[in-house]
Amino acid sequence: MTGGVVSSLGKGIISSSLACLLKSRGYRVTIQKFDPYINIDPGTLNPYEHGECYVTVDGHEADLDLGHYERFTDIQTTRANNVTTGRIYQSVIDKERRGDYLGKTVQIVPHITDEIKRAVKALGHTGDFDFIITEIGGVVGDIESLPFLEAVRQLRWELGDKSLCIHLTYVPYIAAAKELKTKPTQHSVKKLQELGIQPDVLVLRTEHHISPEMRRKIALFCNVAPDAVVQSIDVDTIYRVPLRMHEQGLDEIVLRKTHAHSAHEPEMGPWMRFLEKMDAAEDTVTIGLVGKYVELQDAYKSINEALFQAATYADHKLKLVYIHSEKLTDADVEEKLGGMDGVVIAPGFGQRGIEGKFVALKYCREHDIPTFGICLGMQCMVIEFARNVLGLPEANSTEMNPSTPDNVIDLMEEQKSISNLGGTMRLGAYDCQLAPGSKAAEAYGETVVKERHRHRFEFNNAYRERFERAGMSCVGQNPKTHLVEVVELPGKRWFVGTQYHPEYSSTVLHPNPLFISFVKAAIAYRDERKK
Ligand code: GLN
Repeated sequence: MTGGVVSSLGKGIISSSLACLLKSRGYRVTIQKFDPYINIDPGTLNPYEHGECYVTVDGHEADLDLGHYERFTDIQTTRANNVTTGRIYQSVIDKERRGDYLGKTVQIVPHITDEIKRAVKALGHTGDFDFIITEIGGVVGDIESLPFLEAVRQLRWELGDKSLCIHLTYVPYIAAAKELKTKPTQHSVKKLQELGIQPDVLVLRTEHHISPEMRRKIALFCNVAPDAVVQSIDVDTIYRVPLRMHEQGLDEIVLRKTHAHSAHEPEMGPWMRFLEKMDAAEDTVTIGLVGKYVELQDAYKSINEALFQAATYADHKLKLVYIHSEKLTDADVEEKLGGMDGVVIAPGFGQRGIEGKFVALKYCREHDIPTFGICLGMQCMVIEFARNVLGLPEANSTEMNPSTPDNVIDLMEEQKSISNLGGTMRLGAYDCQLAPGSKAAEAYGETVVKERHRHRFEFNNAYRERFERAGMSCVGQNPKTHLVEVVELPGKRWFVGTQYHPEYSSTVLHPNPLFISFVKAAIAYRDERKK
């Protein structure tokens, strides 16, 4: 899957939609993303650069597209599903240092391209999949993508009709002329052809319907079969895209071209029921999200999607209100949070915006608003409680103040000697033991759950007893290390903080139970106030 004309067209959504359709026809599918940047992984990237950092079960800090892959397919991804230029170069340089190249000059072609090909085929060698969709990040024509596209060209020769290339482009609408324009698509396909790649399928992203006649014209100019030109028109939710693709036969084209014979039509029943619920929902639940990246749609992607899925399963529309934590003060907290049915305190790093999170938490706690703290949000719950209930005014996390007298959130011993920032946090899925009877245990319907982590700091167990005595219960802990994973205020409507990130495991067909429980509490709170 390559992309042309501009970025942000939704290659990840098209890949996910195709995978969703193939899976529903009974195939074993996975999707991998190749990112042409030099970073080893997006873990060190600021959300302003690349949106949320997603985390896989095996603890890889990944591109947010992997989140879409999991949400659409319900298939867990791993480190092998996300490779960057940095990782390719790192492994080539390691081989060079070991002497593996036997005195040869190490070059982009063939050594870098061979390494890319090896990575592209790696998941295939596991024997676990019938189809592997490989998304090449960036846009055709970028200098950075050249080695990846050269690898694709070579792979097409190796794999023959066991492979195909889908190219996603943009068909802009010129409002003044009232016309859709195909020229950028033609140019982008030419560029791909110059690199020796002939796309088999074109997916055209557009805001207006593209006529069959125009599609035939594009097919003719771009050397593609007329029925292999598919439009991807804007929809109200990304979860409709698989159906739109199926209506135009994208999955069938792929099966035909790869000589795969589908036993049955896609079984989209549960998916359709999700969409039906979404369409039938009349009432709205209003959730406030307090964070510092609120101007950026993608920074809290998995939280947004988990909330949306939960609201849909609770038969409600979701109204998500972003509240900038840097601008929140005691003077305006009532105005900004007073109307919320529930409040999420977002994850994050560093001091900026942290005081606003304490303001929000104090208000939510005192007014008994359903509140969900995630990772840094949970740590803030603990700090706010220490300051305002335990009477420790200088309580803090040592991330924010290394010399705080009350380090209620502190570094784990094994984190203290770490100086590199990349890939060194507590990452990936860990078991969590939940106290029977807690809101969290009730929500999951289980007392041992596995959720994903991405953090360095932890609840300081030296304070645990004082918190418990004052009413903040530590209801979830790691069974081996006894690290606190979940805190609750049992007397409140719903006041739960998780050190882990439950949003990463929430999918369309298996929404995360904690989000469902939170959203239901928010709906109940709204109904109570209405009465
Ligand atoms: N900054 C906090 C830590 O490192 C929380 C991280 C997060 O919210 N993902 O522990």
